[in-house]
Amino acid sequence: MAVTLDFVKAISNKPKPQTDNLQFGKHYTDHMFTMDYSTEQGWHNPSITPYEPLTLDPAAMIFHYGQTVFEGLKAYRTEDNRILLFRPEKNLQRMNHSSERLCIPLIEEEVVMEYLKQLISIDQDWVPSAEGTSLYIRPFIIATEPNLSLAPSNRYKLMIILSPVGSYYPDGINPIKIKVENQYTRAVKGGTGTAKTAGNYSSAYKAQEKASNKGYSQVLWLDAIEKKYIEEVGTSNVFFKINGEIVTPMLNGSILEGVTRTTTIELLKEWDIPVIERRITVEELFQEYENGNLEEAFGTGTAAVISPIGELAWGEEKMVINNREIGDLSQKLYDTITGIQTGKLNDVNNWTTEVK
Ligand SMILES: *Cc1c(COP(=O)(O)O)cnc(C)c1O
Repeated sequence: MAVTLDFVKAISNKPKPQTDNLQFGKHYTDHMFTMDYSTEQGWHNPSITPYEPLTLDPAAMIFHYGQTVFEGLKAYRTEDNRILLFRPEKNLQRMNHSSERLCIPLIEEEVVMEYLKQLISIDQDWVPSAEGTSLYIRPFIIATEPNLSLAPSNRYKLMIILSPVGSYYPDGINPIKIKVENQYTRAVKGGTGTAKTAGNYSSAYKAQEKASNKGYSQVLWLDAIEKKYIEEVGTSNVFFKINGEIVTPMLNGSILEGVTRTTTIELLKEWDIPVIERRITVEELFQEYENGNLEEAFGTGTAAVISPIGELAWGEEKMVINNREIGDLSQKLYDTITGIQTGKLNDVNNWTTEVK
């Protein structure tokens, strides 16, 4: 698809960070994409310009009522120096799903996909090549109309920024310790849990802080109503291997539908490994643990792909899973998904898109 946009080239290029010193979200590339929306003009003025701060009216609605959505995906460099995106259409679909919930006008997914690819192509030297590294892509939309009334904004800005990120596992995969959160909740059916919108994340800080203070790296979220059913781990979806069968919480109106979750389910089906989406309580999980049936547990998400859970604390109880080691299935999923993403494995499902 041919699209046109304004392009203003950066006068000078920033120095690139050292690959062994890439922290998440610390460095940004030379350019950014912006596009404006107004009720009169719709989406207009798509532009790629030098990366720089924005000027916004202090009354811009984003600052007051948080009308905003975001996405997160990655570009990977292959050994033969191509640049691949992994199922990026799913991210733009989900961005529209989030926007719909927040009363933000929808984007034309195919057109924005072309803008996104053009931006990456312009800044392609920023896609790192070391094992485990990638270029993190952050599309987002903010409400920009200066207005304090409680109604959806009449103006928005869509932006895409790019950040080279390091390996999530510089020292190899270390299973994480997580803690069941029994006080705070992340999301409730009918709320915004299925949307990637800012408020869901800032409202989770408190529980994360509580868990970190006790030495856990993430929280395991339960359903908001009965506080029994497992929903997600931190900002990842969660899977359990119980007696040879894989169980993941079914999408229930408060769980975020991860691209890595979908990919994991599809791979398991391809491999003829039984996978079931259903409700599961911590109580049931603990019973299975006590019976010796809880074989593996892991989170799925773009950042870490597969993050094995080595220890799960639930009140006074503690479950140590697979001797705090990564399980065979977790490892196989990690190797397969990252192998496809980086072009090392044959992409039989056509999940990758090349940026030229
Ligand atoms: C982004 C996100 C995920 C993971 O989604 P991916 O598309 O796999 O990266 C899971 N849960 C929450 C709450 C998220 O925000």
